Amino acid sequence: MRYGIISDVHANLEALTAVAEALARSEVDRIVCAGDIVGYGADPCGCIDRMRSLGVLTAAGNHDRACIGRLETAYFNDAARAAVEWTSRVLREEDGRYLASLNLVENVGEKFTLVHGTLSSPEEFDYLLDYFAVASSFSLLTRPVGFVGHSHVPIAFYLRPDGNIAYFHKPKIILEKGNKYFVNVGSVGQPRDGDRRAAYAVYDDEAGVVEIKRVEYDVAGAQEKIIRAGLPEFLAQRLAVGG
Ligand code: ZN
Repeated sequence: MRYGIISDVHANLEALTAVAEALARSEVDRIVCAGDIVGYGADPCGCIDRMRSLGVLTAAGNHDRACIGRLETAYFNDAARAAVEWTSRVLREEDGRYLASLNLVENVGEKFTLVHGTLSSPEEFDYLLDYFAVASSFSLLTRPVGFVGHSHVPIAFYLRPDGNIAYFHKPKIILEKGNKYFVNVGSVGQPRDGDRRAAYAVYDDEAGVVEIKRVEYDVAGAQEKIIRAGLPEFLAQRLAVGG
């Protein structure tokens, strides 16, 4: 099977549309998401509609939870909190029900796991970045691969059979038997690695290859909607630089 792996859509319908078209060209069989459909961008309802019509299995992100009042925003920065408040006002009732139905952890058969932050405390949405977070999440990973989001920066960690953990930033990840992997596929709707193009991945489980890809989208269109919605201007500006 070929899977399209996405994360951190963040209500950016222009980016999601470009990624969905790219995934269709890549002939993926199924699309899954590591969380944060909404928050930051100006099209939360449109993105939820598109995710539902594409049949995307999604693990809950912190913004997905915050926008329906199921996560405190005390630790959100001002722009993020303003976006959560705006989003919670525009969501339709059915959107709230849909977001509430998302689980923190999803397994796709025996093949892989989806979680937004860490497996050790998925409800706290810590970043899977430092050694201890990665090591403790590996100890809970029951599939060969876990796909994560949250940092908006593509990265892959791997655990070797001898217990060593390493990471790399290469776009093509060849999965070796016996290793376990966590792959952050980057962000569809708000990349933060200095590349403004939307990020996504294609995972071919038979070939054992994950490829992180980028696609151009209508950044100006997404920015204009953010400004028009009265969301913080910073949220529009950062899309132009991918930071
Ligand atoms: Zn996010």
